[in-house]
Amino acid sequence: MGWWIVILGGVALYFLSKYKFEKVPADAVKVESRSSGRVYYVSPKEQSCSCPDWHKRRSNVPKDDPRRLCKHLISYYIGQDQLPESLSLFKGGLDWFYEKFRGFPPSAEIERFDVGKGEVAFFKDYEAGHWHSVCFNGKRYGWERASDTWTNDTCPEVRNMMIRHQLGVPDDLAEDAIRHVSAERDGKPLDWVIIGQIEGEEIKAKISLRKNAVWHTVLFNGKEISFYLKAGHSKGGGFSDEQYTHMNPPVSKWIGAECKRLRAGIDNK
Ligand SMILES: [Zn+2]
Repeated sequence: MGWWIVILGGVALYFLSKYKFEKVPADAVKVESRSSGRVYYVSPKEQSCSCPDWHKRRSNVPKDDPRRLCKHLISYYIGQDQLPESLSLFKGGLDWFYEKFRGFPPSAEIERFDVGKGEVAFFKDYEAGHWHSVCFNGKRYGWERASDTWTNDTCPEVRNMMIRHQLGVPDDLAEDAIRHVSAERDGKPLDWVIIGQIEGEEIKAKISLRKNAVWHTVLFNGKEISFYLKAGHSKGGGFSDEQYTHMNPPVSKWIGAECKRLRAGIDNK
């Protein structure tokens, strides 16, 4: 029901929800909807609201989970600068929903973990394809996961750690951490798949020995770790500095060495 009966009988206020009367919590605050002008009551302490959205989709979500927050709760917490400490990780995301006058996506899957420099959380936005919101240190960043593109080219300082964590890629590896396992042709004569091992896990790369080859795909345990290279710039047939992987430098060193080895093999024939 989108309407209210408020009975000013004695001390307590009641509202009508799903055909039953509910007591308005003692700390209830009146929030006027910025879109419809309707008035709802939010309880900052209970993290509850009298609106239909909260009753229908959010009342069973535990406290301190941002999915419990309808647009009115966000409106109160952000507008009044009263966000509970337990939700501070999501501050940037909640600012964003505040501007759009939306509640937190109620069915979003939230991933959150500690990256050493603090906690990071990310979740899929509304109707936004592959776009995610990434929250870190009070800010929100827009992230297109499949291509690792960031809104306004701005990413959190913990981006690499976050992606490594997500892909299960080991951190802080020595340059020579990858052990050669095998190499095989990948169709065309100059295209190869090389296979290596890191701490017992498989790493696989599709590489090309052609001059000016610009990209390679690298998989770690079957998962693609986005990887672009510009070949043909630097000395010794290696790679330029414009390398990008979630495991540099061991990956670039490994691919450089394998390319050299394969080229030498081809030249000797
Ligand atoms: Zn509400």
